[in-house]
Amino acid sequence: MRFVHDTPPARVVFRPGASTTATAGEAERLGLRRVLVVSGTRGADTARAVADSLGAASAGLHTGARMHVPAQVAEEAVRAARAADADGCVAVGGGSAIGLGKAVALRTGLPLIAVPSTYAGSEATPVWGLTEHGVKRTGRDPSVLPRSIVYDPELTLGLPVPLSVTSGVNAIAHGVEALYAPDASPLTALTAEEGVRAMARALPALAEAPTDLDARSDALYGAWLCGSCLGATTMGLHHKLCHVLGGSFGLPHAETHTVVLPYALAFNAPAAPDAATAVARALAADDAPTALWHLAGRLGAPRSLAELGLKEDDLTVAAELATRQAYANPRPVTADAVLEVLRAAYAGGPP
Ligand code: NAD
Repeated sequence: MRFVHDTPPARVVFRPGASTTATAGEAERLGLRRVLVVSGTRGADTARAVADSLGAASAGLHTGARMHVPAQVAEEAVRAARAADADGCVAVGGGSAIGLGKAVALRTGLPLIAVPSTYAGSEATPVWGLTEHGVKRTGRDPSVLPRSIVYDPELTLGLPVPLSVTSGVNAIAHGVEALYAPDASPLTALTAEEGVRAMARALPALAEAPTDLDARSDALYGAWLCGSCLGATTMGLHHKLCHVLGGSFGLPHAETHTVVLPYALAFNAPAAPDAATAVARALAADDAPTALWHLAGRLGAPRSLAELGLKEDDLTVAAELATRQAYANPRPVTADAVLEVLRAAYAGGPP
């Protein structure tokens, strides 16, 4: 056995109600006295409740978060932080709101606290993203890693079931790719498998009973584990394809992950049999890609790129973009092979 284990530092507070009962304490622990809360417009009410719970330590609320963090939007948030003389930032919401908090942290060096309301996992990674002139740039910087994560399953009670399902499969995708990552360790492997197991168990339960706090807690627990794996390992073909499809063709983030995952895993499984076995074990199934495809179908999630609005003509360009730069993947990535994966995902049949 040989491995290097290197996870970013993480402090996590996880309990129902934590968004308004624990965030102030987390800010205080970091010595923060003037915290700017950022969110999207849809999450503004929740974010306002968090800001109110900070009492005198709240320096205001900025609700400008938008998908994929446009540079202009980041600029406005940085200005708001400076105008408020903030000494810290709390991001409340999904990956878009947390992405905005990271942009503020990147530009100002302010410490960030994350209060996630989806299962996307950005709160557990030092990866930032910014979109300018239609191109999304991403990078790693330890300064954007949240100093503390406040997980409050009550925040997710109102996450619509379709978004819960696709966001949950987005989390599962982090676990799957962590299992065959070049920098996986025995601990990330255990974490990833347990994360996939928890999420796959939680999604049917919350689809049945969306306000069941136990199911929501289970899903958020799975999201934390899978997000930790995303932060600790290098993702492969699946994440690359989704990045290209989202960044260059405007496809929605979580839905795209949900559609692509069975096909990306079917492609990689022969070169990563232990990872495929671990995913199958977590899904209590014989064949992991087929089980993921059935899970999405059973929960009414989209299963084809065609459904998401991609044009068949775009497949060749997408394959070319996804193979332009080399990246880690268990099976060699060629333009032809990727085109096959994309064609299958476009059609949406059994993987
Ligand atoms: P999102 O943050 O855009 O949220 C999707 C929609 O759900 C939004 O309209 C939002 O207002 C709404 N919403 C969020 N929480 C809700 C709740 N609890 N109840 C009701 N509505 C709610 O989507 P996402 O999938 O969470 O994040 C996607 C973005 O995050 C992408 O830009 C992606 O690139 C980025 N991301 C980054 C990382 C990273 O490590 N840097 C990791 C994962 C995702």
